[in-house]
Amino acid sequence: MESMQFKELDIRPEILKAIANMGFEEMTPIQARAIPVELEGVDVVGQAQTGTGKTAAFAIPILQKIDPKLKKPQAMVICPTRELAIQVADEVRKLAKYMPSVKVLPIYGGQEISKQIRSLKAGTQIIIGTPGRVMDHMRRKTVKFDDIATVVLDEADEMLDMGFREDIETILSQIREDRQTLLFSATMPAPIMDLTREYQRDPQTIRVVRKELTVPNITQYYYEVRPKNKGEVLSRLLDIYDPKLSVVFCNTKKGVDELVQELQGRGYFAEGLHGDMKQTMRDRVMKSFRNGKTDILVATDVAARGIDVDDVDAVFNYDLPQDEEYYVHRIGRTGRAGKTGMAFSFVVGREVYKLRDIRRYCKAKIKAQPIPSLNDVRETRVEKIFDRLDSYIEDQDLDRYVKMIEELVNEKDYTAMDVAAAFLAETLGSAEGRDAQRGNDFGDTGAEAGMVRLFMNIGKRQGIRPGDVLGAIAGESGISGNMVGTIDLYDKYTFVEVPREVASDVLDAMKNVKIKGKAINVEPANKK
Ligand code: ADP
Ligand code: MG
Repeated sequence: MESMQFKELDIRPEILKAIANMGFEEMTPIQARAIPVELEGVDVVGQAQTGTGKTAAFAIPILQKIDPKLKKPQAMVICPTRELAIQVADEVRKLAKYMPSVKVLPIYGGQEISKQIRSLKAGTQIIIGTPGRVMDHMRRKTVKFDDIATVVLDEADEMLDMGFREDIETILSQIREDRQTLLFSATMPAPIMDLTREYQRDPQTIRVVRKELTVPNITQYYYEVRPKNKGEVLSRLLDIYDPKLSVVFCNTKKGVDELVQELQGRGYFAEGLHGDMKQTMRDRVMKSFRNGKTDILVATDVAARGIDVDDVDAVFNYDLPQDEEYYVHRIGRTGRAGKTGMAFSFVVGREVYKLRDIRRYCKAKIKAQPIPSLNDVRETRVEKIFDRLDSYIEDQDLDRYVKMIEELVNEKDYTAMDVAAAFLAETLGSAEGRDAQRGNDFGDTGAEAGMVRLFMNIGKRQGIRPGDVLGAIAGESGISGNMVGTIDLYDKYTFVEVPREVASDVLDAMKNVKIKGKAINVEPANKK
């Protein structure tokens, strides 16, 4: 990324003057990439480490957009703590130094609310507040928030960690929908992606991450998974990243055999390699992997020692290695000969501590990633199909086919859009058939469109209330509470609806869960 000067931005001279006054010379990477996008009014998800200038990255576009003559709140920044609110307010004020009619106000708990209300009414345009206090002001309706055109969630990961999710959702749901929503965070765990999906409009993701790997050309991710979900998560990653050759590591021979069976059952070309296999068998497997007949090699550490294949695109630690050094050996199977590689590690429960040791040992940035949803998988498939279309449209003479479509359109009274959509459905269909095999097709459960109705074997008699069901589902599966649909409580059982795309995640998450101390069973409902 080449450097970029602030003066290259199309912003008010007053802001440029303030920036010069603050002694900033050039933009930090997150600023250089985020500010131009924000100035266009696009929603942004910005990820960069602490101390990289994220405050100015959202404050400059806010100041550019503000109408200094309008004495009403026009922008709101939500921060996790009072200290941060004050800090951000200071920085915004410095940037607004030459815009004297712009008023910035930090609002946080512990401060006299009546005084805050007076200041707000006196024409504050930029509010910087903690979630609880902002909600207080909204509830009191003493100040109108109708003119807020920009909302920033600063340190979003921190806010979620502190349990502010519901408050944030309440705030966002009460602010004009045509607002610009900016989210900044040092990390991007799954709940943030959820928030983004729910409350931002076509956000552009901007990530600036330092390279600090001992093995610089290997991107390393980890996923917190439940043991039962490992196979499904692996499949989704294989579908999304689509590595040509990958090596999957298990800690035991039994693990290798079981995973090979599962992958083959799901339609992947996978073979196993472990110490109990005869040499001739191992040679056969390796040959098939080398010439690409087998895409996925599932192996134990010992068996993998002999693998001398240069173009492995991805390594999966299906089981986290017991030994830190093994991690380095394992991921060193990819990213060879100047190529880039990817390493994906699955972490179950307390293994996060083991992962921490591994990170320390190899000074590697192993980044937490949300488990891709089925929607992500579908989006990737659609993207790939569209990519292929490009080459047809650009390189081939399609006249003949255009004529055929024209005939169809005229004859059947379809639109060309209908026909294109039908082709996409048909092309996607084969891939999605595999999803259905995986049990993600719940059929008709009698739920609302787009939802799946689940049956739970507890009800009013057990003292269950809707909040318990909602809490258990949101808490266990990590989906947001407002995604949960209708909850029907009966004496001995309960029906609850969840969105189709997360239904299998919810079912997986609800295995072995107790509500009010009672072990429960959850399954898709049968249509009556
Ligand atoms: P973050 O929110 O990413 O943790 P801050 O916005 O608090 O980071 O910025 C950290 C420090 O860097 C602040 O003192 C800020 O004034 C300074 N800073 C921000 N942008 C620049 C820049 N372009 N050049 C020099 N210093 C900057
Ligand atoms: Mg910050």
